[in-house]
Amino acid sequence: MEDCLFCKIVKGEVPSDKVYEDEYVLAFKDIHPVAPVHVLVIPKVHIKDYNELNEENIKYIDRVQLAIKEVAKVCGVDKEGYRVICNTGENGGQVVHHIHFHLIGGKKLGSKI
Ligand code: AMP
Ligand code: ZN
Repeated sequence: MEDCLFCKIVKGEVPSDKVYEDEYVLAFKDIHPVAPVHVLVIPKVHIKDYNELNEENIKYIDRVQLAIKEVAKVCGVDKEGYRVICNTGENGGQVVHHIHFHLIGGKKLGSKI
């Protein structure tokens, strides 16, 4: 996707503060953190949102879920705990339309919503 910000980050056309990378997944610090640890974990392939998931591309989300575990370790929040959020669509508050998982932690988090 040529106009997708996160595809540009994957390609290195837009800079990011990377915390983890493997063949399928990239994780980088959110530019507007809401907690001491706030990392976005994304598949390298462009998938817009949950509504686009299917039998073929779900394997990339599997990789993202496993990577989240590693990112939590790298960021030192695996033992204390953290929250994973995936905003979807307008009511979900999704602003960047490349599926991504917010890993948030480093402090006691408040309300679930
Ligand atoms: P969402 O509202 O779930 O679509 O989240 C998009 C997130 O991307 C927001 O938390 C933004 O702060 C973050 N964001 C936007 N641009 C960048 C960027 N260039 N680098 C890192 N994070 C970004
Ligand atoms: Zn994209």
